[in-house]
Amino acid sequence: MTFRPPSNNLKQRLMSHQGGESEQGYFVYDLEHLAEHLTKLQQQDVVKLWYAVKANPLSKIIQTIAQQGINFDVASRGELAQVISQGIDSKRVLNTGPAKSKTQISDFLRQGVNTFVLESINQLTWLEEAAKEQGKRPDALLRVQLSWPDGEKNPLGGNSLTPFGLGTQEWSSITANQFPSVNFCGLHIFQWGNMLCNNKMFELWSQMVPPLAALAKQVGFDLHVLDLGGGLGVDYEGTGNQIDWQTAMADLAKIKAEAGVQELWLELGRYAVAECGYYVTKVVDRKTNFGEQQLILSAGINHLLRPAITDQPFPAALLRNSSADTCDFYLHGPLCTSMDSLGNLPLPNDVDVGDQVIFSFAGAYGFTESMPLFLCHEIAAEYVYRNNELIEVRAAQPASWYLQ
Ligand SMILES: *Cc1c(COP(=O)(O)O)cnc(C)c1O
Repeated sequence: MTFRPPSNNLKQRLMSHQGGESEQGYFVYDLEHLAEHLTKLQQQDVVKLWYAVKANPLSKIIQTIAQQGINFDVASRGELAQVISQGIDSKRVLNTGPAKSKTQISDFLRQGVNTFVLESINQLTWLEEAAKEQGKRPDALLRVQLSWPDGEKNPLGGNSLTPFGLGTQEWSSITANQFPSVNFCGLHIFQWGNMLCNNKMFELWSQMVPPLAALAKQVGFDLHVLDLGGGLGVDYEGTGNQIDWQTAMADLAKIKAEAGVQELWLELGRYAVAECGYYVTKVVDRKTNFGEQQLILSAGINHLLRPAITDQPFPAALLRNSSADTCDFYLHGPLCTSMDSLGNLPLPNDVDVGDQVIFSFAGAYGFTESMPLFLCHEIAAEYVYRNNELIEVRAAQPASWYLQ
């Protein structure tokens, strides 16, 4: 398991942190680390970067990303409101998502959103109607789902149907000039996740180009933008593989030339924010059961659901220093369901009640991808770390905060 350690200063600060009695666990995001990482991602002129807000919509994260000149991919009214309330111009927003209603499209347009990824013919029709009504001509990308004929090499390893976008055959039934109030500027494709291999990613992107170029031609518009979504991975399981950014940029420069597009876009989620974040919780009990070591933690999938739905634990370590040998522990949370497991992970074998366990890569798909309401537990606190200071963005909240 590759645990990504916090900086020494942050670790010292966390060891002296006294959360109140109601703090079962908390997230902390190292904003300087995030800014440095994003600066590196921005040192290229191959792709235009968007941030997929669903990975982590915390105000301070959004502000740090905005300062780096990265724009925002929002997929709900809530995400749009959160981005706008950070003082970000709605012109910097791209709207994706399979469940855009006619009213939502119209409201987003009225609020100044000008770039839409369309996932159905209804969405396209509704955008046309709203744009005409409001006297606007927004940019649109059609979201495409590709499949491969049986027997052909499918880089995705399966042709499962998803609600994201439409197949090329379905999109071929329209022509751009039927929608004069919509500026067809490109195509969007994203049907892979947590990729850790540059070669595989490049092979996949390469295979997308010919069918996409053919589709744009058929629908009748110039393919100006190709949006390749997100899916650049994080090595949760310690496989030793990871996407090298420079290599990815060199590969994408080839894709850009091959597709003949002016702009390539990526909407990064976890690759942008996962590594800046940690989650810390306490050991409430330790026991040996059927010969196995078990730790019961103060919080589990109520604060970190992802391991239960993907089978990929967040890498963990003991917060304090220990030179004891490690052994594997089953990590359980407080929920009365066997689903509440954060994995079977190595920890020093002197770990005991009252110790703190820290999980890394928790900057993405942590706080908002959880199930905090079950069994009336507390909402996790969120902190940011900057200038050697731990700043509380939201304190832990008891169940009385949300129960009626
Ligand atoms: C979730 C999502 C992303 C980000 O995915 P990551 O795997 O976190 O990079 C990008 N684009 C769209 C449309 C998404 O739904």
